[in-house]
Amino acid sequence: MPHPLRSAAFERPHAVPFAGSDSEETAAEAVLRVAVLGSTGSIGRSTLDVIAASNGRFVPFLLAAHRGVEALVEQARACRPRWVVLTDPAAAANLDHGDLPSGTQLAVGPDALDELVRSPEIDRVVSAIVGAAGLRSTWAALEAGKTVALANKETLVMAGPLVTRLAERTGGRIIPVDSEHSAIHQALRSGAAHEVRRIVLTASGGPFRLRPADTLAAATPAEALQHPTWSMGPKITIDSATMMNKALELIEARWLFGVPADKLAVLVHPQSIVHSLVEFVDGSVMAQLSPPDMRLPIQYALSHPDRRDGPARRFDFSQALRLDFEPPDPARFPAVRLGHEAAARGGTCGTVLNAANEEAVRGFLAGELRFTGIADVCARVLDEHPYQADPSLDDVRRLDAWARQEVVKWTRV
Ligand code: NAD
Ligand code: MG
Repeated sequence: MPHPLRSAAFERPHAVPFAGSDSEETAAEAVLRVAVLGSTGSIGRSTLDVIAASNGRFVPFLLAAHRGVEALVEQARACRPRWVVLTDPAAAANLDHGDLPSGTQLAVGPDALDELVRSPEIDRVVSAIVGAAGLRSTWAALEAGKTVALANKETLVMAGPLVTRLAERTGGRIIPVDSEHSAIHQALRSGAAHEVRRIVLTASGGPFRLRPADTLAAATPAEALQHPTWSMGPKITIDSATMMNKALELIEARWLFGVPADKLAVLVHPQSIVHSLVEFVDGSVMAQLSPPDMRLPIQYALSHPDRRDGPARRFDFSQALRLDFEPPDPARFPAVRLGHEAAARGGTCGTVLNAANEEAVRGFLAGELRFTGIADVCARVLDEHPYQADPSLDDVRRLDAWARQEVVKWTRV
């Protein structure tokens, strides 16, 4: 049986019909009802932009946020979804039902979200909750056989083999939103799976690409939050500064595309225009280029296998365009090695690395851990964890909690 996620990437690999063919026109007219999990975040807001610019092709059916009551109410008023969900019950107590538009109902708590996301009225689910908290609702959507536009990379990092098997069983599909994986998904349409020699994920290098390695221990949260090319939520912005984001993305790519870790590489590209590359056996390299704007990969994941006009920024080719590439510096960015190791070993490594990193980033932002301590503590917890090659979902949950506790021990000494 073909790998279910990879087969999504290879769907119609050789003969993408020209726009305007009869079958495409019919498909393009159908309305897709969308659930946006994490609607108040950076990806969530960009998703609502894409929906608003779609001329009714995409309609919001459900918006979910954790505790941003005001932002969620404002979004509900602007786009009138059928459901809004607040996963934090304490925050829901601050919501005045009279503030919601008529026709929009409120549900509260993560169980309610898991239930609603399975609704037959939902055609596509945008999974954009940050962190391990995004796994359960993504799991529920895939269990119900949904097509998921996946921004929450943690789902695949934590539980790649389980999620892959789940999708295989239910017919659920994942279309990546992460810009690198979207680029790879697009480039893979140029060839067959057995023709792929190597997949190269690009990385901006973050705010510390040129900062002397021996000054990184003193880097502050304010400095680490200054991303040169992307505007994103705080957690992923810190991960870009450590390049742990690339480590997580290596693991994500390993499961998403069903490729062995030794076919995956990382290349620093400071302009964030080439979003990743695929090298084929004949030496040809296919890349996807666009200005850094998440609305493009979000729209690609919503409209796949079609393409359509949209709100993402475009190139102005009347201006000079420069593209630089360099290998990542292992001394400055030890996290990249951890990603390669975790992708190669598989099993529980992704779960543990992800959880340790989430807790370490929290500690760094709270002033409890130095910047360089993030990768150090992750390496230690990864080394010491009780490795399992084929964990269950319960094992994943248990090890997630264990890894967080271990980091707390290190940050509180
Ligand atoms: P963000 O912090 O801006 O937004 C997070 C969203 O998740 C908010 O709507 C928040 O209410 C919700 N949320 C937080 N904790 C929750 C919980 N416990 N339960 C339910 N909902 C919760 O994050 P973001 O930058 O939009 O990132 C979202 C996801 O997309 C992450 O997994 C990130 O790695 C991934 N991603 C983001 C970008 C980007 O450009 N921002 C790019 C690629 C991938
Ligand atoms: Mg990315």
